[in-house]
Amino acid sequence: MSSDRLVLVVLGRQGSGKGTQSALLVDKYGCVHVSTGDMLRAAVEAGSELGRQAEAIMAAGDLVPDGVMCGIVEQRLAEADIRENGVLLDGFPRTPTQADALLEMLGAEGVDLAVNIDVPVAEVTQRMVDRGREDDTLDAISRRLELYEAQTAPLLAWFEDHGLLHTVDGMGTREDVFERVVTVIDSVA
Ligand code: AMP
Repeated sequence: MSSDRLVLVVLGRQGSGKGTQSALLVDKYGCVHVSTGDMLRAAVEAGSELGRQAEAIMAAGDLVPDGVMCGIVEQRLAEADIRENGVLLDGFPRTPTQADALLEMLGAEGVDLAVNIDVPVAEVTQRMVDRGREDDTLDAISRRLELYEAQTAPLLAWFEDHGLLHTVDGMGTREDVFERVVTVIDSVA
């Protein structure tokens, strides 16, 4: 995509503020927010074939198969709003295979950058405990974070190898973090 249409991947642990920053970023850059987690939850809600396939997988915290995910994302990326305005990808890619597929879908101009919003494990754990949701027992929180770590480490390595990874300190106020992210994006895209 051309330089005025941003193609951005946002990475970050649960509790890193990734959702908040994504909302601010689509507002600033006018790109389309695509969250594969939201798309899957909508499919489950709608009771579609995809939703039926994904429900148990999501409940177990496992990953929906790469082939299924890539098909969904490829279709979405082909729509006019994204071709015109660019995209912020949130939750995709999740694996190096998905990342390879993404580059193929996007062709020559590919991804502008991946921003990793880095908040230490101890801090995101505390944030989730403070949030006090019923499913947020310490055990459940640590399990989700361990899974994230295991699933994401190869992906971070993939973005690093492709010269696309930019890690931003996610500590501080949302305004502080947003300013850091914008500085990184504007220096690259
Ligand atoms: P999220 O809201 O991004 O945490 O996604 C919620 C759940 O949806 C994940 O735990 C996975 O089960 C599934 N999911 C979302 N995005 C992907 C993806 N790119 N690849 C595989 N599974 C995904």
